[in-house]
Amino acid sequence: MCMGHVGGPRRRLTRRGFLRLSAVALAGGGAAVVLQPLYRVWLPQIGRGPAPAAPLDAPRFDGQRAFALLRAQVAFGPRNPGSSGHAQCRAWLLDELSAVCERTAAQDLAVSVRGQRLALSNLIGLVRPAAERQVLLCAHWDTRPWADQDPNPANRRTPILGANDGASGVAAVLELARVLAATPADFGVVVVLFDGEDYGPGIEDMFLGSRYYADHIWPDRPAYGILLDMVGDRNLTVYQEVISTQRAPEVVARVWSAAARLGYEAVFPPVPKYVVYDDHVPLLDRGVPVIDVVDFDYPPWHTLGDTVEQCAAASLQVVGETVLEALTGG
Ligand SMILES: [Zn+2]
Repeated sequence: MCMGHVGGPRRRLTRRGFLRLSAVALAGGGAAVVLQPLYRVWLPQIGRGPAPAAPLDAPRFDGQRAFALLRAQVAFGPRNPGSSGHAQCRAWLLDELSAVCERTAAQDLAVSVRGQRLALSNLIGLVRPAAERQVLLCAHWDTRPWADQDPNPANRRTPILGANDGASGVAAVLELARVLAATPADFGVVVVLFDGEDYGPGIEDMFLGSRYYADHIWPDRPAYGILLDMVGDRNLTVYQEVISTQRAPEVVARVWSAAARLGYEAVFPPVPKYVVYDDHVPLLDRGVPVIDVVDFDYPPWHTLGDTVEQCAAASLQVVGETVLEALTGG
């Protein structure tokens, strides 16, 4: 993503003529695996402690599990379009989505940027696709091809690892999909992992996958959506993002009130701070209320220092619980 200015132009992001559909490939259609416990653990009640937050057999968001998903992506190396890490991670993500989603698809697109042809894929998974109401959960899976904010000028043409900027949002979304698939609910979840978010270097060559998706929403238009980006910072503070507060205030209220109910107000201060241009903007331009949950106070942003060591399972845990509460609680 990149930063904008408060009160700056709210022009629609230009959709350039270079996007074209190559294929929407269906990649498997396995049924969701829902594991139910075979027995319920019985514990004698001693005293009158606080009631458990959820029944013992309710699936819970597991920050450690999400952190392992973050590590697994970083292990492929940089995942910028055209790299071997990109190709390997694409295949791995489709496997991960297939493990928890009823349907999985790759929305492939070909893009020309400054004479270079890029093969991009938005990766899509559906949980309860038959439900009438659908909620979008999304993140970008590609990583920045150049560390243009690195303090060392010699590093500024080197691709970044994107542990936080890329892998963290995907990790949280995948773990949320697993939990939501195993949680009875009256809504379905459309998981979309966008490609080409961080290409650039300028804003005109960013959000390539989400712009395409906004013009080719599949399968149906969601009721609302939540974008997760840079949510793994070990020093996590998620202020409200300004464009989201202006254009989808009800979704912002839903997420920040969920955080407050869980006692996470210190991590989710209910205050707007940055204007962040990100994958939510093309969808907002199409009238879909999608907000950006993003921690922009991250010094290693777009540097070679965006590594696993900067991230923490505890941060993913707070974000995962908050999003789950926003979707199912209240
Ligand atoms: Zn970025």
